Amino acid sequence: MRVVLVGPPGAGKGTQAQFVAQHLSVPKISTGDIFRANVSSGTPLGIEARRYMDAGDLVPDEVTSDMVRQRLLEEDCAKGFLLDGFPRNLTQAHVLEDIVLGIGQRLDVVLELVVDDDEVVRRLSGRRTCRQCNHVWHLDFDPPSREGICDACGGELFQRDDDKADTVLHRLEVYYTDTSPIVGHYANLGILVGIDATGPVDDVTDRALAALRPFER
Ligand code: ADP
Ligand code: AMP
Repeated sequence: MRVVLVGPPGAGKGTQAQFVAQHLSVPKISTGDIFRANVSSGTPLGIEARRYMDAGDLVPDEVTSDMVRQRLLEEDCAKGFLLDGFPRNLTQAHVLEDIVLGIGQRLDVVLELVVDDDEVVRRLSGRRTCRQCNHVWHLDFDPPSREGICDACGGELFQRDDDKADTVLHRLEVYYTDTSPIVGHYANLGILVGIDATGPVDDVTDRALAALRPFER
């Protein structure tokens, strides 16, 4: 199954991607995680991407699309994938269609996580991410049992630079101007489903799996 998760920053894409990908037995591919791994190890891609990420802007399409094309053509994606954070504009949506058509496949479903802006700001201000396994936590809504330590792997938790207040507001603007048009695009293709992404994480997962069920094959 080939699935895309879409929603504003902080909607819970990464949180839900972990469970949904496991349920579908497909790899979870987060462009944000790939960029952050490159930033941490100081690769040329990371050095280039960081300038945009710190400002809350999108990394240029060419760089992002080449990276995703390479990743989706790897062996573990042959039977499907779950994309978190790509596509983020119409150009990238067309690139994804080309990649999938190129391997004789199609995109099955796009799942939109719907939350309002106030909730996004509350979620991002308390988000903590594991340096080692990328698991996301929240200081109030989903705290780890030991402060600063990831329950999943024992790694160190950190606050992303782009989760600071000013950058969050800019990222929301970028979502509404650049990314939200892809929602209409996928609705026109008849492969969009939206769910209410507020409430406890487990309830959102149940809604996500129920929404995907009709598309499973
Ligand atoms: P995204 O990948 O869409 O940017 P994340 O999955 O990283 O969003 O979630 C953003 C923050 O919100 C994280 O700190 C996460 O723990 C928290 N979060 C995720 N889902 C929920 C939920 N249903 N209720 C409360 N907080 C949540
Ligand atoms: P995320 O982890 O999805 O919130 O992404 C963090 C940052 O990485 C974004 O604010 C962008 O700077 C960059 N990024 C992630 N995915 C993309 C994408 N598909 N296109 C362009 N930039 C991206």
